[in-house]
Amino acid sequence: MARVDAIVLGAGIVGTSIALHLAKRGLAVALLDRRAPGEETSYGNAGVIEGNTLLSHPFPSGLAALLRVATKRATEADYHLSFLPQVAPWLLAYRANSAFERRMEFADLMRPLFSRAVAEHEALMAESGAERYLRKDGWLKLYRSAAAFEATAPERELAAKYGLTLRVLDVAAAQALEPSLAPVYQRAVHWTGAASVSNPLAVTRAYAARFTALGGVVLEGDARSLHRAGSRWRVDANEGPVDAAQVVIALGPWSLDVLRPLGLDFPMAVKRGYHRHFRPRGNAGLTRPVVDTEVGYCVAPMEQGLRLTTGAEFAPRDAPPTPAQLERLLPAAKALFPLGEAVEAEPWMGSRPCFADSRPVLGRAPGQDGLWLAFGHAHWGLTLGPVTGRLMAELMTAATPFCDPKPYGAERFAR
Ligand SMILES: Cc1cc2nc3c(=O)[nH]c(=O)nc-3n(C[C@H](O)[C@H](O)[C@H](O)COP(=O)(O)OP(=O)(O)OC[C@H]3O[C@@H](n4cnc5c(N)ncnc54)[C@H](O)[C@@H]3O)c2cc1C
Repeated sequence: MARVDAIVLGAGIVGTSIALHLAKRGLAVALLDRRAPGEETSYGNAGVIEGNTLLSHPFPSGLAALLRVATKRATEADYHLSFLPQVAPWLLAYRANSAFERRMEFADLMRPLFSRAVAEHEALMAESGAERYLRKDGWLKLYRSAAAFEATAPERELAAKYGLTLRVLDVAAAQALEPSLAPVYQRAVHWTGAASVSNPLAVTRAYAARFTALGGVVLEGDARSLHRAGSRWRVDANEGPVDAAQVVIALGPWSLDVLRPLGLDFPMAVKRGYHRHFRPRGNAGLTRPVVDTEVGYCVAPMEQGLRLTTGAEFAPRDAPPTPAQLERLLPAAKALFPLGEAVEAEPWMGSRPCFADSRPVLGRAPGQDGLWLAFGHAHWGLTLGPVTGRLMAELMTAATPFCDPKPYGAERFAR
């Protein structure tokens, strides 16, 4: 029987960052996954480290937007009809959280995490030899209509309040930054404080390698084997059973698979998303991720090609992929950027683990000694992985946390 101080279940960017932070503090740690580190949701994202994020993503408002989604003409969101009754309570809660004052509350409560996101990645990258994946040149949000640009004015006012840097650009100024973009938009906002990575999988792998260099152990196995063993927690890794006084659930969209059998449930849903890589035509190129805000997709330069990522699809996590959204937005994406042939035969699909208030759950599991929770990072898991790792390690080692963890606690779901 192997014994460690802590077991981290899930080797996505979140679990790997927690394991690394615990190992840095001298704990003996096992990091368990059924795959190699970083190969699920943490592989397929748009690679943006959104230190600039202020407001949560709102539920579509206005009849026209709702009708477009309902009639499956929308590019920014899609759904499986048979899934709607099941996800309806979550969608209603999400809509309630889209009220402006709730989104302002999100900005306030999440700022301690977002404001450190880039710096915490940089610190881990420096010690993991992963700086070569980091681009510190922000990201660009495009607005095809003046109305859409005006509608986001409150976010820019909020940015001024929080001291975030941004530049509002006309087409000529945006083209000076990204000459390959066609002028199908009227305005652009360059969020200069954000960063991005050219290969999210390689970043998680680098953090995992640093973890093992510090003495951490990466194990393969099924996290659903987690059970109590006296006062400790035990998991059956392929290499044999391992137990520890503390265990962290960092299984992203699969977290409830392990928690429900323990009698713990949380109102988490998934927003599925797709990506596909394309080769650029001719010598076109991009230096940073670009979001076509009204159409609802991101195009990000990656080592694998230009990665086109979609918005949300509401469907059962394990249902077969239905990448209709990607097909729908492709003409708009091709009008913006000279995308050439696709790199893969099929799009990639992943699931963003999301709570209706858009905040993750970080901290102790109520009523379960030694059980810790770190999941539900929604659109920002890559961004928040390292800062989550730091906060969780501080909480688990009874150090003074760098911020008040209460807004992220599981207790907010207690009835
Ligand atoms: C299209 C798209 C674009 C995105 N763009 C961005 C972006 O630009 N910036 C950003 O910050 N975020 C982005 N995100 C969100 C981000 O990718 C996620 O929030 C993040 O990857 C979640 O990380 P995680 O470690 O919690 O989960 P995961 O990476 O999914 O890790 C969970 C791990 O648990 C393992 N696991 C599951 N079940 C078991 C089991 N039974 N036994 C053992 N192991 C198990 C899995 O193998 C996996 O490795 C995007 C997401 C999508 C889908």
